[in-house]
Amino acid sequence: MRLDDGRESQNVEDRRGMRMGRAGGIGIGTIVLALVAVYFGADPTEVLQGLQGQAPAGQQQQGPYEEGAQEARARVLVSKVLADTEDTWGAIFAASGRTYEQPKLVLFTDAVQSACGSATTASGPFYCPGDRQVYIDLSFYDELKNRFGAPGDFAQAYVVAHEIGHHVQTLLGISERNTAARQQASGAQANALSVRQELQADCYAGIWAHSANESRQILESGDVEEGLNAASAIGDDRLTQGRVSPDAFTHGTSAQRVRWFKRGLDSGSLDQCDTFGARDL
Ligand SMILES: [Zn+2]
Repeated sequence: MRLDDGRESQNVEDRRGMRMGRAGGIGIGTIVLALVAVYFGADPTEVLQGLQGQAPAGQQQQGPYEEGAQEARARVLVSKVLADTEDTWGAIFAASGRTYEQPKLVLFTDAVQSACGSATTASGPFYCPGDRQVYIDLSFYDELKNRFGAPGDFAQAYVVAHEIGHHVQTLLGISERNTAARQQASGAQANALSVRQELQADCYAGIWAHSANESRQILESGDVEEGLNAASAIGDDRLTQGRVSPDAFTHGTSAQRVRWFKRGLDSGSLDQCDTFGARDL
């Protein structure tokens, strides 16, 4: 995949190296700092308020975070793909008179707090509709390579594009409608609706690949196979085993995921991604 001449997104929020604090955003480190501040004659509440102003609720920075060369490459890739999705979806939304609201992408290590609850690295990358942010621990890419046999930059890019697909579903009201429908449905029906939502996110990831390739010829031979391999090997929302989403559901079969990704890739059209209206997946 060729991303060299792409820009990096301004919407990456780096929370790597931050540790989860206790309830209310005050951890042991903060309390120690406040006590030290008291020792030196400062008002401890100022210290606490100051820190809470800097870090997201419940997370504190534990000193500067140092990334290795491989992680730095992954960070740049994620940032460029995010920028690509901003251009892709910005244009698609504008074409129908809508405004694409760019989401933040949060990098974290070990654990993170989102509006959807706390999550760990084991949750895998995820999108939280509550705060409209994508969360990813870059070490997931090691797992993608070693455990799921899906190495390569296009597979990495696909993961981001799929999560952004969930953001698009949120902006279009699809996620909300589907959540309401699922609440009315039986277990098996609810599961089937979740599968359709996941397959649509795969199709939207295909739209990103279509659009980025049209504008900047990012695809190289073997890339599509690599992305399809990733699509079939992973479920982003392996987070269903974590704490963010308690619902257990599948993402559809490998063949279904590949088919919908390809539909988005070949057509570049939202109309071709109507997994909810499709009789056959
Ligand atoms: Zn998903």
